[in-house]
Amino acid sequence: MPNAVRVRYAPSPTGNPHIGNIRTAMFNWLFARRNKGRFIVRVEDTDQGRITEGAVDHILDGLEWLGIDWDEGPRVGGGYGPYFQSQRLERYHAAAERLVAAGEAYRCYCPPERVDALRKEQARNRQRVGYDSHCRYLAESERLANDAAGMPSVLRFAMPQSGVTSVDDAIRGHVEWQNELTDDFVLVKSDGFPTYHMAVVVDDHAMEISHVLRAEEWLPSTPRHVQLYRALGLTMPRFGHLPMILGADRAKLSKRHGATSLMEYRDDGFLPEALINFMALLGWSLDGETDIMAADTIREHFTLERVGKPAAIFDLDKLQWMNGVYIRQTDAVDLADRIRPFLEREYPADLLPIDREYLLRIVPLVQERIKTLADAPAMISYFFEDAPEYDGAMLVQRGMDAAGTLAALQRAEADLSAVAAGDFGHESLEARLRATGAELGLSGRQFFGTLRTALTGRTATPPLFEMMEVMGQERVAQRLAVAAAKLADA
Ligand code: GLU
Repeated sequence: MPNAVRVRYAPSPTGNPHIGNIRTAMFNWLFARRNKGRFIVRVEDTDQGRITEGAVDHILDGLEWLGIDWDEGPRVGGGYGPYFQSQRLERYHAAAERLVAAGEAYRCYCPPERVDALRKEQARNRQRVGYDSHCRYLAESERLANDAAGMPSVLRFAMPQSGVTSVDDAIRGHVEWQNELTDDFVLVKSDGFPTYHMAVVVDDHAMEISHVLRAEEWLPSTPRHVQLYRALGLTMPRFGHLPMILGADRAKLSKRHGATSLMEYRDDGFLPEALINFMALLGWSLDGETDIMAADTIREHFTLERVGKPAAIFDLDKLQWMNGVYIRQTDAVDLADRIRPFLEREYPADLLPIDREYLLRIVPLVQERIKTLADAPAMISYFFEDAPEYDGAMLVQRGMDAAGTLAALQRAEADLSAVAAGDFGHESLEARLRATGAELGLSGRQFFGTLRTALTGRTATPPLFEMMEVMGQERVAQRLAVAAAKLADA
């Protein structure tokens, strides 16, 4: 199937994956799914100095959390492995030998100090910064002597020194570069590991990648890759460079604009569905106006034609809004189960174990008001505390005194304990307590303000009677008694 779509996400395991990086993964995945192709994960771990421990797992866990599944790669295997570049060195060396034999690459013995000094001087003189091809012109005898002496060396690509290199980018259209502006870049480093350029070309070909969809920051590397394909006599994949992602201030996305790593968003209580929807709109659109779309819809409609060239703006407010929309759409049982770990994280000791049935009844009371899962614990913790903490003076509302407040609490306690167990629903509670309040000559604000404080220790809570119903007769009675005791003691 020569025309089959095969795309890859090729992360370098150098830290926690950030949003831009995951957006790239996601667009590749969407493109594969839409075109019934294969989505491949390949770990680009040839820069040994920059690898961080655990990074591969973070990346893969992040994809799994988002529901981005891959057909080949780590954890799943596949017919084009291994999927770690550090395990594919012989392939790069074989390609390197072919390039040397064809006169397309050469050994360079220049010490790093010389190359650095050269760059500095070029920058000072405002010249093109890059290697000056010094070793490209070494006599064969010099080369042999250097090798015999065991001089360290790198392998460089002999870049054409004139003409242009061009691509027809699936997103950016026709792009071309003057060859003289690209230097003889390194293919194999002195430690024997390939550079990114070498490895990416060899592997994209070996893995039969049909489309290379990657961030725009890689566009300047593309003429190098195109030349390598030519020199190796390989057919090229189609390139597509995804637009940059900028903050609302149009600066490159960074910490300043909020969390940048995917896992921070997870830990801050964002839903994967919301992030998928949000990230899809970082450079792509369904019709230029629809905001809320399920992953299925995005997958069905994703095309490169609708990926734009202009930079995408990362708008944290929009993400928060969108997350709220998804939270409200989530089934309450599902939502409760997602909130639970956040409760356990915030209140490890005092609230545990959390009663799931109880939580299921609480969650609908706050579902409309939370923007993230992490908002929930502070909003509902008092449901679980045996005795919410507050100052007894808070019970006394404006226009009341302590004695009147105590009497009101006692009356409410008596009223509510008279309710038949099966009748503790919010409607009948409301009717009953409104009548009592009127009888006591208290306004709703006064009477219900006192009750609200007694039950929660707060002034802002979900609707009082719904809350009472959820807490249940026993808890309510016990809290009213605690409140009465507070006043009696004062
Ligand atoms: N390893 C590169 C990265 O970390 C991949 C670039 C590419 O997709 O060619 O972004």
